[in-house]
This record gives sequence, C-alpha cells and structure tokens, in this order.
Amino acid sequence: MTTTVANDLVIAIHYCLKNAAGDIIDQSEKDQPMEYIQGAGNIIPGLEQALTGKSIGDHCEVTVNPEDAYGMHEPQMVQQVPREMFQGVDTIEVGMNFQSQGPDGQAMMITVTAVEEDLITIDGNHPLAGQSLHFAVDIVSIREATEDEKQHQHVHSASCNH
Ligand code: ZN
Repeated sequence: MTTTVANDLVIAIHYCLKNAAGDIIDQSEKDQPMEYIQGAGNIIPGLEQALTGKSIGDHCEVTVNPEDAYGMHEPQMVQQVPREMFQGVDTIEVGMNFQSQGPDGQAMMITVTAVEEDLITIDGNHPLAGQSLHFAVDIVSIREATEDEKQHQHVHSASCNH
C-alpha cells in the first residue's frame, strides 16, 4: 500500500494558491483534485519538495520562494517595442497577453505592461515571476504511475488522447 509521497507516484491534491498579498490565484476544482507525478517536474520544484514524504490526508501549508516557483523577475525580459509589431491588433491595452517566440524559438507568453503613443512595453516574465507563493494542500490519494505515465512523465486521464 502506497501512502506517502515519493518519486514516480501519482499524487492527487486539492490545493489553493495565494500570492503574498493573500489573493487567491488558482485552486483545484471542488470534486476534482489535481493529479501530478511526483519527481517529474509537473509542479513547481518548491512545492514538490515540500510534499515529499507527506501522507494521504495530510494538510500542508507551504510557502515557496520565487527561486523555487516561477523564477525571479528578469529585467532583461522587459522590452519596449514599436506599435507596428502588433499589426492587426486595433487596440493595445495594459494587461493584454500575446503569444510570442523566445530566443530559442520556444513559445512564450508576453504581457503588455505599458502603452505610450507608439511605444509598447512588453514583459516576457511569467506573471508569477518574482512572487512568493503560498499553497494550502490536502493530499487526497496516492497511486503507482502506469508504465506509460512514467515514460511520458505526466498523468494520463480519460481526456488524454495519445
Ligand atoms: Zn502521455
């Protein structure tokens, strides 16, 4: 019987994530705990580490520093670009998100953080970069990962189609 959190196990948790100001940023759905594979990097490293060795039924309050969550806020990821870069977008407003390409060609999300005349300031940092995160976690269930899941390093659910 598998009852404590360890690598290669599928852990189902209910969680509530708050930022340093105490605002709820994210939480699991009421009757649907989130499942992840411990040790597979499915969740942020700081949380994974904090849950290691916990048991079914445990309630944990975990504060994760930015370095162990979404990283520090990197000033060089903030840029000013000309409005012409946003062709086809009629109105550009602070808070809008756009899909962009990072330096290695990977998809990244950018956020508009300032608009002045023809100069748009964009921020490629994760919206939670630089923030300490507070998690309240209940461990609901633990099971062995299937061979496929171990190979893919993610949980297979009924909605998974590969
Ligand atoms: Zn898969």
